[in-house]
Amino acid sequence: MARSVLVTGGNRGIGLAIARELAAAGDAVAVTYRSGEPPEGLFGVRCDVTSTAEVEAAFDKVEAEQGPVEVLVSNAGITKDTLLAMMKEETFTDVIDANLTGAYRVSKRAIRPMMKLKRGRIILVSSVVGLSGQAGQSNYAASKAGLVGFARSLAREYGSRNITVNVVAPGFVATDMTAGLDQEAIVKNIPLGRQAAPAEVARVVRFLAGDDASYITGAVIPVDGGLGMGH
Ligand code: NDP
Repeated sequence: MARSVLVTGGNRGIGLAIARELAAAGDAVAVTYRSGEPPEGLFGVRCDVTSTAEVEAAFDKVEAEQGPVEVLVSNAGITKDTLLAMMKEETFTDVIDANLTGAYRVSKRAIRPMMKLKRGRIILVSSVVGLSGQAGQSNYAASKAGLVGFARSLAREYGSRNITVNVVAPGFVATDMTAGLDQEAIVKNIPLGRQAAPAEVARVVRFLAGDDASYITGAVIPVDGGLGMGH
């Protein structure tokens, strides 16, 4: 039977690539979208991950459509870059709310049904920046580093229930999020000498969601062309 998968922020960028990859592998895939239209051929539920009520309603709809979520990919995320000296408190807390507390909200909603199923996969999309830091991104880096401690705590709490919790840490991926950045300057520091395509992140998520990753939990898998050198 097809597994029930939910990908947050699955209407574009890395999230959409993950959703398409898992759908192609035979899973029943739902995506959350916050704005615009849901992508063709995928079950879309409107949801802003900063709202507990919207997260709750989205899971209710996904469960009714395709059963309890067995694979959760927490991918939705934002940047609001500025140096600390200029950073307003809400610029910090908005990014934490979407990227870190958002992951908490969806994981919290997913965990009890996974416990009942006695199996589950939670995959959180972090960033190389969470481990290396980045000038102008202290809010974003803090949110992404926070995901690592969060994931590893869940891995310890729910390992005995056959639920794995892992993190992928992409480097520099060609999406709307990076479209405005100085490509040349960044690529210079990447051993593989290029940006990633979203599908290259998606394939690692497919691996972590699949049977071949049955003994991996609490891991941080870099998908960064060597940018972070395994950190
Ligand atoms: P995009 O900006 O292309 O897409 C972001 C996605 O997140 C969109 O679907 C967006 O929805 C959704 N989203 C943002 N905020 C919320 C929210 N509050 N509630 C619900 N959905 C929300 O980014 P990417 O695809 O590049 O990034 C995906 C993830 O990968 C992010 O977590 C990002 O931090 C991470 N990442 C990206 C890297 C890169 O180089 N691109 C590198 C490392 C990590 P909507 O369309 O409605 O705005």
